[in-house]
Parts: sequence; structure tokens; C-alpha cells
Amino acid sequence: MSGPRPVRAPRGTELSALGWQQEAALRMLQNNLDPEVAEHPDKLVVYGGTGKAARDWRSYDAMVRTLRTLKQDETMLVQSGRPVGVMQTHEWAPRVLIANSNLVGDWANWEEFRRLEALGLTMYGQMTAGSWIYIGTQGILQGTYETFSAVAAKKFGGTLAGTITLTAGLGGMGGAQPLAVTMNDGVAICIDVDPRAIERRIEHRYLDVRADSLEHALQLAVEARDARRPLSIGLLGNAADLLPRMLAEGAPVDIVTDQTSAHDPLAYLPVGVDFDDMATYAAKDPAGFTTRARESMARHVEAMVGFMDAGAEVFDYGNSIRGEAQLAGYERAFAFPGFVPAYIRPLFSEGKGPFRWAALSGEASDIHKTDKAILDLFPENESLHRWIKLAGERVHFQGLPARICWLGYGERDKAGERFNDMVASGELAAPLAIGRDHLDCGSVASPYRETEAMLDGSDAIADWPLLNAMVNVASGASWVSIHHGGGVGMGRSIHAGQVSVADGTKLAGEKIRRVLTNDPGMGVIRHVDAGYDIAEAVADERGVRVPMREG
Ligand code: NAD
Repeated sequence: MSGPRPVRAPRGTELSALGWQQEAALRMLQNNLDPEVAEHPDKLVVYGGTGKAARDWRSYDAMVRTLRTLKQDETMLVQSGRPVGVMQTHEWAPRVLIANSNLVGDWANWEEFRRLEALGLTMYGQMTAGSWIYIGTQGILQGTYETFSAVAAKKFGGTLAGTITLTAGLGGMGGAQPLAVTMNDGVAICIDVDPRAIERRIEHRYLDVRADSLEHALQLAVEARDARRPLSIGLLGNAADLLPRMLAEGAPVDIVTDQTSAHDPLAYLPVGVDFDDMATYAAKDPAGFTTRARESMARHVEAMVGFMDAGAEVFDYGNSIRGEAQLAGYERAFAFPGFVPAYIRPLFSEGKGPFRWAALSGEASDIHKTDKAILDLFPENESLHRWIKLAGERVHFQGLPARICWLGYGERDKAGERFNDMVASGELAAPLAIGRDHLDCGSVASPYRETEAMLDGSDAIADWPLLNAMVNVASGASWVSIHHGGGVGMGRSIHAGQVSVADGTKLAGEKIRRVLTNDPGMGVIRHVDAGYDIAEAVADERGVRVPMREG
């Protein structure tokens, strides 16, 4: 019988599928479920609350079986984590097409989703969980690093040295926060209700120390801040309880954000509930749990607004906590901005976003060689050089070795083609899977996050991610996905992903050049359409065709 068991992607050059395109999908699916990578692999949960790689173990087994026998001109169709068909297509077509968690508008809420999930008809794919390109906490690390760098540039003279950041959530994504803060030379106090989350981040060297109490955390933080010494401190407790206390006591905090799993009220622990009782209570009384979680989120957000009023830099970090607090009746929930309009939008306008790749060989040396290739390709980009150097020193690989760096239009295709040449020449031990987060410049509609406060008011227009998926299918990506609800929860986002495999063949090179041009190109045209000057300048300078600006 099919059930939980440890999963690990094979390493090396021996294929268990009929070609590297299929083998890559297989290894990346398995890598997502590697206990080193996934938060709860026994439940097929990879990250982000309940973001899964496969609907159930039977579906997982069927996908593995199918990928092993899938031909070069066939495509496997995946409906919310279950393989539902194999169709004859052609060599340029993706080997896998994925649609996860999609619901018709009026039905797109957690209640209906959970009803359907309980019937075994759907699963929550988050962003890179159900599309098999999650690479552990590093995936989010550079974005988080970039965001804290932007905070430093905006308000603290370019460095976080001498500042204290207060946040919560040390899960798969949120676990990047302490390291991103210390990489910017700041001090971070990071709250989590789960002692294992704290231990895990310390083990992986993302978090420096654990405090015994709130007083201890503040003492450590102030000492480090005064010495302008970077330090990250884990603090066990409930954010909805600790933040109001810290505000009332006048804790000397400069920056406040949050990455608890607030997008899903069943994954946010309400005040007064023991962490150990959380899962049972959420399963037994989801409606009651949701009400209490939202009430706690309202207190949590109220304290964040209080810190803002007291002069701190406060932002929502893409988990929908403002929306949930508003549902609980807290009126000033949207008093502080989301991180995208506050810091990231200019990067998106240039087609920049979280480019990533994984070494299917399993060899760390393959990633070190690609790091060097990136430095050679973009010698003038100082912040990229700083990031690649820091990542090389401080990032602990989880599962297949991988790297992330933000690259823009005209850069990703260069990197992809160089990587494919490195596979062809034998410089790398095996092919690479090249993909990205769905949180990208032209692949997501999410009015509380990536498309919050668009210049032309087009925040909720979801045609863009659908066009993005279609253009990636038409350009030759190896697998393409369309998801609903990732990041911010049901009813609040639609987004798409692509992965392209650099297997060293000429065909792969041609596909990669198109995909890695057109995919970030969507970011440029999306922002030109919304009226962003930077995007227009990039389009003019780099030759991106926009029919409405021609003739
Ligand atoms: P996760 O489920 O792996 O971790 C969430 C953590 O929050 C857990 O460790 C949990 O113990 C903790 N937590 C829950 N309730 C708490 C409370 N009341 N007080 C303190 N800690 C509490 O989730 P993740 O993958 O780390 O993602 C976190 C959130 O960030 C999600 O909502 C996700 O959608 C969002 N997200 C943001 C970005 C971004 O770029 N900003 C990207 C991806 C995901």
C-alpha cells in the first residue's frame, strides 16, 4: 500500500526516465519532498502552510511511474497534484502541464476549497510546492535580502547596522528573515510558536541564537545593536501575544514585519491555544479556529500599526495578514504597505525577479561553477556579486544543490544559454533545472502582494499570469504551471511558473533562449501596460515590442 516514506531524488548521470527533460521533472518532484527540503514530507507538504507537491501518495506514485515511461513527444497533465492524463504532443511542448488549486471566482474561498480537498478532489499547490521548483529556504533568501537592503537604503543610510528588526514566522520562507537581516548587518528578533522551527533554523545557520525569554531577547538585541554587531535571535511564543506586550513596554524596534502563515487562518496559532493542540483543534473545529486566528491576527496587526505610529518602518511581507485582520474587523489593517509597492516594484518593472537553478547531478561543485559563470557574465553588477559571494559562504544547501539570484530581461537568457553550454561541454557533471518563483515580475496577479497598488489600478486583472503560462508553453519550457491562491490564500491570487531543463542539447539551448527572454519579457510588458516609466525605458532600450506603443 502506498503511504508516507522518505523520498530523495537520485543523483548522478544514470537516468531512470527516457530523457533528461522527464528525469528533471521526476528529480525535482522528489527533491521537493526530500526531508531536508520539505517542512512536513510525510504529509507531502513542502512549505507555506499546506503547500503540497502531490495530492496523496497514490498520486505521487502514479506521477513517478508515468514520468519514468513518458516519451519525448508526450505530455503528462497534472490536476491539483494528481496525474490525470498523458497526451501525445511534440518535442517542443512541455513534458508536464500543471494546474493547481484553481477554483471558479465565486467559489474561490477556503471553505469551499477545504470541502473539495476533504473529498480528495484538489490540493493546495502554494507557488513552487506543486510546481516542483522549491529549493528550500534559500529560494526566498535573496528576495528577503533584497527587501531588507531596500529598507536599509530607504531609511537607514544603506545598512541595517545599529537597528533592530522584529518579525515572526521561522518556517520554510520566513526562516530566511534572520539571515537576510544579519547579511545586511542588522539585529533581528524572530518569534515562532514552534520550537522545532527555531531549532531547524539554528541547525541550518539561518538563525544565530535562541533567547530564553522576551527580556533575554531584548537584552541580547540591544547589546548587539549598540555594538553594531549583526545578530539574529529566536524567541519562542505567539506573535499576537508578544507584539502587543513589546509595544506596551516601548521595545526599541526600528523595523517590523511578519511571515507567519497568515494567508491560511488554519495555519496561524490563535492566542490561548497550545501549539501542541493546534492541529487537532483546527481539524475538529475549522470555523471556530478561523474566527479565533483572525481575532489574534487583528491584535498582531494592531501592534504593528502601533509600532508604525511610534516611528518604525513597518511592512506586510506577503502573507495577507492585513486582509485577515481586516476580516476580523480591525479598521486600520491597511495602514502600512505591502513590501512590493514599498520596495520591489521598480525591480519588477525592469523584468527582474527570482531566477533559480538546481544541479541535477547533486554535486555542489556544479553550483560553484555556475556561481563563477554568473560573476563572469555580469561583471558590472555589484549587488549581484555581493550576493553570490555571501550565498557561497553562508547558504546551506537543502536537497539538490541550487542557487538563486535576481536577474532581469536580457540577463536570464544569457545565463541560461551559458549554463546549457557548460552542460554540453562536460564542465558540469549533469544537466540543470532552471526555473523561478511564481512571485515574479509578470507571472502573478495578487492585489495584496505582487500587484498591490498598480499605477493604473489593474491589481486584480488576472489575464497576465495566464498569458505568461501560455507564452512559456509556446516558447518550449519543460514544465509549466498555473496556480490559484499561492502566497496570500484562496481567492487572492492567480500565478504561473515555468521550469526549463538545460540538458546540453542544441534543442534545449533554443528553447531556453526563447523561454528566458519571453518569461521576464512578460514583466516588462505588464508594467509598460500599467504605465511605469522604468518599464518603458527597458522596452525601448532592449527592444521589447509593445504594439500599443508602435505606429
Ligand atoms: P510555514 O508554514 O513554513 O511557516 C509559518 C510559521 O509561522 C511556522 O513556523 C509557524 O509555527 C509560525 N506561526 C504560526 N502562527 C504563529 C503565531 N501566532 N505566532 C508566531 N508564529 C506563528 O510558512 P512559510 O513558508 O514560512 O511562509 C510564511 C508566509 O509567508 C506564508 O503566508 C506565505 O504564503 C508567505 N510568503 C511570503 C513570501 C514573500 O516573498 N514575502 C513568499 C512566499 C510565501
